[in-house]
Order: sequence, then C-alpha cells, then structure tokens
Amino acid sequence: MKIPMSSPIITDADRQAVLEVLNTPNLSIGPRIEAFERAFCNLTGAQHAIGVNSGTAGLHLCVRAAGIKAGDLVLTTPFSFVASANVILFENAIPVFVDVDPLTGNIDTDQLNRAAEDLSLGGDLARQWLPRQLPEGCEEHLGAVKAILPVDVFGQPADYDHINAIARRYNLAVIEDSCEALGGAYKGQPAGTLGDFGVFAFYPNKQITTGEGGMIITNDPDAANFMRALRNQGRAPGDTWLQHTYLGYNYRLDEMSAALGLAQLERLETLLENRAQVADWYAKHLAKIDRVSPPGLADSTTRVSWFVYVVRLDASINRDRLAKILEHRRIPVRPYFSPIHLQPYMVKAFGFQLGDFPVTEELGKRSLALPFSGAMTEEMVVEVCQALAEALPASEVSASGR
Ligand SMILES: *Cc1c(COP(=O)(O)O)cnc(C)c1O
Repeated sequence: MKIPMSSPIITDADRQAVLEVLNTPNLSIGPRIEAFERAFCNLTGAQHAIGVNSGTAGLHLCVRAAGIKAGDLVLTTPFSFVASANVILFENAIPVFVDVDPLTGNIDTDQLNRAAEDLSLGGDLARQWLPRQLPEGCEEHLGAVKAILPVDVFGQPADYDHINAIARRYNLAVIEDSCEALGGAYKGQPAGTLGDFGVFAFYPNKQITTGEGGMIITNDPDAANFMRALRNQGRAPGDTWLQHTYLGYNYRLDEMSAALGLAQLERLETLLENRAQVADWYAKHLAKIDRVSPPGLADSTTRVSWFVYVVRLDASINRDRLAKILEHRRIPVRPYFSPIHLQPYMVKAFGFQLGDFPVTEELGKRSLALPFSGAMTEEMVVEVCQALAEALPASEVSASGR
C-alpha cells in the first residue's frame, strides 16, 4: 500500500467547479474570488476577506498594512514554516524571535511579555532579545517594535488572551499566521479572527486547497482596502488599469483557484471531520507504542484543526535515523520544524547560533510528522504505526555505539 505524506481530496464537484470557469471569459478578477471571499466572511464572522495567491503573499500584505518598515522589530516564533519570518525580512524589518511553549510549540507568552517590556525600555535590556548581528545601518536606526506575528502551529491557535493583552499594552498589531489552522478554535473563537489580521493558506497539504492560494481576514476597512490595492499592482479604488497609487504586487488569486477553494470550503466540516478521524486512529494505535507521544494540546484549544500529525520521540531515539528507516520502508515522514533561526540565510544575516532558542531546537530535534491526510484509512494508519514500532529499536541513540 502506497502511503503519501499528504494528499488533497478532490471530488467531481470540485472538478466541475473549475471546468465551469474555463467555459467563461473571466479567468482572473471575476465573480469566483468575490464569492470565495464572502464565504470566508460568513464562515469566520470577519468583516473583510481578501483572496491572494499564497499564504505567504497574504502575510506579506498584512506586514505592509501594519505599517512595518525597514529596521522595525516584529516579535515572532522560530518554530514555524519559514514564510512567517520571511515576510518580515521582505520589508527589511527585523524578526525578534521568542522561544515556544514545549507542549504546543506555540509562542511562549511569558517570554513574549518580557521581550515586549524589555524592548520598550531599550538599552541592554532590549539588546538581549535582538539578533547578535544586525544588517548594516540598522544598529543606529533601530525602529520600534510594531507587531506580534504568532503562528497557530499544526492547527492549534496560540494563546491570544495573553498575546492581545501584550499587544494592547505596547500598542502592537497582531498578525495571526493561521495558515495551518483553518477551522481551529481558541476558547470557542475561530482561528484567524484572534488578532488584527488573520491569514489562511491553501497549498495542497492544507485543510482546503486551491493548488496555490491564501486568504486574509480583518475587521479594519482601511487596511482591507489597502491590501486589496497592493494585491492588484497597487491600484487604489478609482485607479485605471495603468494607474498605480501604491507600489504593489501581483498577488491575485485566479478564478479557477477561487472556484476550487469555494467548492472545497462548502465541504469544510466533512474535510475537518475526516482529518480528526485519522488523528483519532493515530492516537489509538500509538498508545500501544512506548517512547512516542501524540501531539500536546492546550486547554484553550476548543477545536484542533488537524493539519499534520507530529509525534514527539523520547530522547533515547535518534529521530533522523528513525526517519531514514521509515523512508526505506516507503513510509514518508518529515522533521517538522527545522528551526527558522538556524536556516543558513538566517544565520548569515543575523548570526544566530545553536542554543539561542532551546525549546524550539529540542522540538525540532524530537518531532516527526507522520503521513497525514483526510484520505487515509485506518489500515494505512496501522501500517505506519507498525513500521514505527518496528523501527524504534534500531533507532536508539546507543544502537550505533554513540
Ligand atoms: C503553509 C504555511 C504558510 C503559507 O504557505 P504558502 O505556501 O505561501 O501558501 C505560512 N505559514 C505557515 C506556518 C504555513 O504552514
């Protein structure tokens, strides 16, 4: 049985929806994106939704809308997919990483609070939170802390009661990277609506897919208008096709993608239930295996939107050796996440070192994403768990004489 790392579920209705677009002259900037945006407002209760061609593009527009400029500081997490930090670099702003909570992998709000306070005081207190090395010219012209960019890791919202309290105290914007959490909830509130801006993504491994795509939601009408303009090459309302009020981008979501997204969104509940069922099967079958723990859930998570299934391995297991053995048995796995601060370009730009964010590094070393999608059967889950159990003894740290 071939088990893929992830796989989208595409139905005949999805195919039909895309085909219908191809029989119209409107392949971009048409009725489908508007309908897709309206559907997101209805789903989340947000007042504005802006469709874009990737989650990364959506996050970038939020960074621009929050007024983040070169040299400004943005508090964020190193335990994420790189895009959440990259959008800060796109504007030559500086990511101030804050380590994460070991249970959930979400930003640690006690440390976040201390970071925000120390940065507001300045001097040596502030310096300890900043990267070791700053880009040329930044040392003299260091901007203010402008925003917090938390990530809802693996489908579980971060702790927004605390994040928003800190944001209010220090007058910061909150950009919620909810690219992994569509359908999740924090104390009953939908993921994506917990900060000033929320962003979802629709790459094929996400809860719904458009191939490539993303959606921003916000209740701020001015920011929404600005982001709509930036998405469309900087054309403000009233601009003609060749008039550009702002420096913008082509971040538009095309009509075929929007049609697919709309069709998928109509089945969101079913898609989420399928995924939750697979997560339940994993929990059941992993319970019999020592030294492998299921994902940790916070009490504040009233609904997990299962995005990936990431287990944590005991310290006696060499994760990379285990991954190799499993790959050999044609069970695909991934080391989620490889810490952002240790990516080569980050080390080069900011001088981060191993040991800078110990919880993130530990999670990065001990975590393994198992194959996961709503299309998996219980048989597949059993096969993965069996392979895992069998591979564990040969993956012990001592097995190679270390
Ligand atoms: C998927 C994802 C994104 C955005 O991804 P795109 O591929 O640009 O759509 C951003 N942040 C996180 C945490 C993600 O998982």
